[in-house]
Amino acid sequence: MNYQNSLAFAQQQDQLDPLQHYKSRFYAPQLKGQDAIYFCGNSLGLQPKSAQAYLDHEMQNWADFAVEGHFKGDTPWFSYHELLAAATARVVGANPAEVVVMNQLTVNLHLMLVSFYRPQGKRYKIITEGGAFPSDQYALESQTRFHGYNPDDAIIELFPREGEHTLRTEDIIQSINSHADELALVMMGGINYYTGQLFDMAAITAAGHAAGALVGFDLAHAAGNVVMQLHQWEVDFAVWCSYKYLNSGPGGTSGVFVHERHGNNPDIPRFAGWWGHDASVRFQMKKGFIPMPGAAGWQLSNAQILPMAVHRASLELFDEAGIANLRQKSEKLTGFLEFLIDDLQVNKNTLEVITPRDPAARGCQLSMLVKQNARLLFDKLTEAGIIVDFREPNVIRVAPTPLYNTFEEVFRFAEVLRQCLTTR
Ligand SMILES: *Cc1c(COP(=O)(O)O)cnc(C)c1O
Repeated sequence: MNYQNSLAFAQQQDQLDPLQHYKSRFYAPQLKGQDAIYFCGNSLGLQPKSAQAYLDHEMQNWADFAVEGHFKGDTPWFSYHELLAAATARVVGANPAEVVVMNQLTVNLHLMLVSFYRPQGKRYKIITEGGAFPSDQYALESQTRFHGYNPDDAIIELFPREGEHTLRTEDIIQSINSHADELALVMMGGINYYTGQLFDMAAITAAGHAAGALVGFDLAHAAGNVVMQLHQWEVDFAVWCSYKYLNSGPGGTSGVFVHERHGNNPDIPRFAGWWGHDASVRFQMKKGFIPMPGAAGWQLSNAQILPMAVHRASLELFDEAGIANLRQKSEKLTGFLEFLIDDLQVNKNTLEVITPRDPAARGCQLSMLVKQNARLLFDKLTEAGIIVDFREPNVIRVAPTPLYNTFEEVFRFAEVLRQCLTTR
């Protein structure tokens, strides 16, 4: 795409954008009495205006039916999770039976590790990305300890080559191959939260399987951001949260993917609860756990209807817009941001984008490594009405999302950035 550094160009792109009207379906956060430019959907997505009605609907059902709400009304709570399955499956490229919405992300990661990190003999190691989100690091550490291993020995962290900021796929695969006989699991983010690098999940999964390991992904930064085909790629399991790109509210519920070849195997060890028990006989309250087929068999507790109602509202927007259309716009929008930052012609020693330049190796986020006074720059951006985020020690993450951000906002951001950098 041929970009131009002008407001007129940005406005023209917005007019041509078939998804432009989705912006009005979200509440715009306010800074100093004005709509902020919000590039923080990677951390907490904006509130869809439709969410309140979905929430109110369940509040009303609760008021009207009380306990009978489990079976009464048009959205009985007993099977509420099923209302989310099809749309969730489309977001991650799965069959509906391969996904379930439940709990929260780190909880689900632990549940998946119980089932899919099953070290045996020499095969007890986990390959993961260095600098993974801390919750994932702690989950892996504690799981290896739980099995009696020393995490320093059992967890192999991959780091970029000297002088580089992101991992090369060939190096990831090389590492998987070279540890093939001691590998139990490959567990990575789909997109690294810090650098914004999108990993080649298909290639990593194939390499992990060839090495005799299982392969799982944390899709916190990938779900609702990029197009995935988890089923086709034969990923063993994945987890994600709903409050980042999926716009389902603070502390929102989480999603889980279990490939059908595992989902239909009742013998896979798991931590069980009554909501994962065969639904047709669940209320007989009998002894002896019989898992439901598919990912639903990993449910523990009765569904969190209120956060799930919000999630449902949000998923409908994704279904309406279409994840492939969103991704198409996203590549243009982030490409425009990259073009404008390039056009500032700042010295690498001042500011450097560490996210890969290849659109296929990133989602919507660009991470700017700011060599001096990063915090000050961040504060100035906020002062100018722009919400981005700061990650210690010196990275500012900028995530224009295709659902509610515009080319004009990207243009205005770059103008402010230029001003901030020239007045330092
Ligand atoms: C946001 C994020 C989390 C947060 O975990 P919660 O259990 O939802 O608090 C975990 N892992 C990754 C990779 C994340 O990006």
